[in-house]
Amino acid sequence: MELNVMQPDQLDDLIQGISLADYQVIGPMESNGAIAYEPIESADDLPRGIIDHQRPGKYALQKIQSSRFFGYTVSPFSWKKYLYPPVQTLFKAERNGQGIQLETDSHDVKYAFIGVRACELSAIKIQDKIFLGGDYVDLHYKERRENALIVAVECFNTCETCFCDSVGSGPEIPNGADIVLTEILESGEHYFLVRSETEAGQEILNQISLKDTENNHYLIKDAQLERVRAKLKRKVQTTGLKSKLLKNPDHPRWDEVAERCLACSNCTMVCPTCFCADVFDINDLDGNTKRERRWDSCFTSDFTYIHGGNIRHSVKSRYRQWLTHKFASWQDQFDSLGCVGCGRCITWCPPGIDITEELKALSIPPNQYKKGEINHV
Ligand code: SF4
Ligand code: SF4
Repeated sequence: MELNVMQPDQLDDLIQGISLADYQVIGPMESNGAIAYEPIESADDLPRGIIDHQRPGKYALQKIQSSRFFGYTVSPFSWKKYLYPPVQTLFKAERNGQGIQLETDSHDVKYAFIGVRACELSAIKIQDKIFLGGDYVDLHYKERRENALIVAVECFNTCETCFCDSVGSGPEIPNGADIVLTEILESGEHYFLVRSETEAGQEILNQISLKDTENNHYLIKDAQLERVRAKLKRKVQTTGLKSKLLKNPDHPRWDEVAERCLACSNCTMVCPTCFCADVFDINDLDGNTKRERRWDSCFTSDFTYIHGGNIRHSVKSRYRQWLTHKFASWQDQFDSLGCVGCGRCITWCPPGIDITEELKALSIPPNQYKKGEINHV
């Protein structure tokens, strides 16, 4: 697709154009010391000049002297909170004097997501397979997803916890976005390289007067991506990982990680691909009822409660289930990994458990592994 140049003050024209096309614009903003994805009204709401520092169990924002709009890496929140809300009323049945009135979930808001990173777009594509692939389509997700417009933004920086490259989800933006932006701020110049990838994206861009690119713009864009790639220090060696995990349910490392894991479920809540949920019926004394779907986690003891009891009593069995699903059985289920390397589960794990270290340790044959061999940061 054709690449054009957009000036920084035209970013607001883009946001207003999207809004006029009847989308609710959701974008990054600073909120309570973190980057949140919330409804925005203009480019002034974006976290200009703010970068994030992420390490295992640590997160902080910093205001720097920069006019960059997208200088942070990823928010603690993911776009799944809009496509697959944490709490969702599936239907309500209420008595109205003449009978029962049934109201099903219907969603008439069209979302436009501004600032979707490569790993996040990969995560959306994974959730598309979960909710839209196969014989059973989730109509609640479908309605939200089909109407969504995605404006992806290439990363110019990494955080210490991300590793998109080694799981094949970045740093290039995969297909699936409507508009792709690359923010360039170098040699005293600030501009965006912009391209549309769909008709919906092109219609929005048609309203902005963009300039043509010059040859060096392609080189500048490629060089920026190369710098990002070079900064990605965390890696996962995925070759042979599935069989190593499935063959070693008694690897001594599972006991070690279980000593650190609090089973708090933070990792699953922040993960953009995790999709476990529970369903509750809420009844009142007037005979009304409401069915709600709420995110759940394989780390909670109730999640695996089935007739007669809980099948995963220990933290070890729950951690093993999570990691083995992400990197092994997910491949059988959805033909991909269940991880896009966004690093959120590392940043937001209170004791700072790092899945890349755990996978490295678990890849050592159990009979050659020495306790504490792969140390945590
Ligand atoms: S498992 Fe961790 S790094 Fe992978 S997608 Fe989920 S939160 Fe991101
Ligand atoms: S791995 Fe970390 S975030 Fe996940 S449940 Fe254990 S302590 Fe909580």
